[in-house]
Amino acid sequence: MILNARYPLLNPKLYHQQLPNPLQGAKAGHFNAALADELQWTEQEKKDWIAICSGQHTLDGFSPLAMVYAGHQFGHWAGQLGDGRGLLIAQVLNKDGQTIDLHLKGAGKTPYSRMGDGRAVLRSVIREYLAGHALNGLGIASSNAVGFTSSTQTVQREKAESGAMLLRTADSHIRLGNFEWINQYAPELLAEFTQKCIEWHYPECLEQQNPILAFAEKVIERTAIMIANWQLVGFAHGVMNTDNLNITGSTLDFGPFGFMERFRPNWINNHSDHQGRYTYQNQPSIGHWNLWMWLNNLIPLAQPDDKENFKEALATALEQYEPTFLKHYQQGLAYKMGLPDFHKDSFDCAMQFLHILQSEQLDYTQSFIRLQQQQYQLIRDDCLDVRQFDQFLQHYHNIREHQDLEALQQLMQHHNPRYILRNHMAQRAIEAAEQDDFSEVDRLFQILATPFEQHVLERPEDLAPLPSDVPEVAVSCSS
Ligand code: AMP
Ligand code: MG
Repeated sequence: MILNARYPLLNPKLYHQQLPNPLQGAKAGHFNAALADELQWTEQEKKDWIAICSGQHTLDGFSPLAMVYAGHQFGHWAGQLGDGRGLLIAQVLNKDGQTIDLHLKGAGKTPYSRMGDGRAVLRSVIREYLAGHALNGLGIASSNAVGFTSSTQTVQREKAESGAMLLRTADSHIRLGNFEWINQYAPELLAEFTQKCIEWHYPECLEQQNPILAFAEKVIERTAIMIANWQLVGFAHGVMNTDNLNITGSTLDFGPFGFMERFRPNWINNHSDHQGRYTYQNQPSIGHWNLWMWLNNLIPLAQPDDKENFKEALATALEQYEPTFLKHYQQGLAYKMGLPDFHKDSFDCAMQFLHILQSEQLDYTQSFIRLQQQQYQLIRDDCLDVRQFDQFLQHYHNIREHQDLEALQQLMQHHNPRYILRNHMAQRAIEAAEQDDFSEVDRLFQILATPFEQHVLERPEDLAPLPSDVPEVAVSCSS
């Protein structure tokens, strides 16, 4: 690996250096060799992947560290948080020369663990491993992972479970909550920290008249696009606290996330979220709320005689969030539907379709695949209100008449995944892995790598939700 240790250059108040605490009996889980290649791992490092992904082997030239941050959790100020069970173990250059963080999750207690044990369990590590891989396969900016290891050590949750570690990659682990911590506990570091964030992640902003404002605009834009992409594939993050969103707009720290199956806008995968704050349909507005909380932390960076203007400029920047989101969401939806994005009725027609999915409780991903394959009768057969469906279909055909259908079909093909990580798929892989059989993790890993194409390893249950009379897997917040 080629190191680019830059976070350790920051003021030591912002992190705590310590070594990982390996689990007993670490053993192979799964390894993403293609990602290791992208990150320029040597042949020797690839051979040593189990030792690296279990904290037994650390890299010369980088002292692992836990980052400190703060955050708003479920809408409330939570004070100091931080990496309570993960360590930044390296920053490395990928083949494109981009710096990528390697973060070892489950690496033991840190000064920020609060009541936690510093560990992660195999169940949640597999879910994060497959979901990050799935999002990357879908073309959605997200953390990913080079590999994970299991162990013979048990970790206590609702019951005793296998301890595990995940070597996560991300273009940044700097969260909105890092700014909240600095502003609250070390405001003297804010200017330099912001400057570094811009240099590292948005160097193009340095050429702007007001780099901080340009930075804010970029973070707002990337977050809006990320969330539009989530909505389009039916991804629900689960814990959109300000400490779980980063400044590069790449998906991070999804906890009890889920890919929606039957279309239910008020669906919530996080059973600890009793008020439904982080439902699928709330995600866009929560993104806005989080950014608003974050922007408050930039205000102290205004020139003393320019505070009011700067505040107003930040508020104006945030006004761009909604149109940016809508533009990407509407365009993406038109592509999924195979409708021309410039047509004035396309969005209405898409809404008509979503309304049918909702009222008929149809599977989101499967229904779009059926639409793409022009299997209209299959969708109709699943509808109780066939008149509603016939009206939609008439409208749909009217708009598509005289359009370049071949081009529209191609767009549909590139925007409608055949595979998402359904809860029951992850669950089956987890149950096998708990018996040391990682073949199902590997099968899912392969099909999710190219989710828009039919794969030889496909099983019928990959394409549909469980029958509606089978209870859903409850995904708990304890991970
Ligand atoms: P999350 O919402 O899962 O991202 O976690 C919120 C905070 O709790 C973060 O600061 C985590 O590092 C910390 N945390 C979560 N689980 C544990 C654990 N088992 N041990 C220590 N800290 C934890
Ligand atoms: Mg977190």
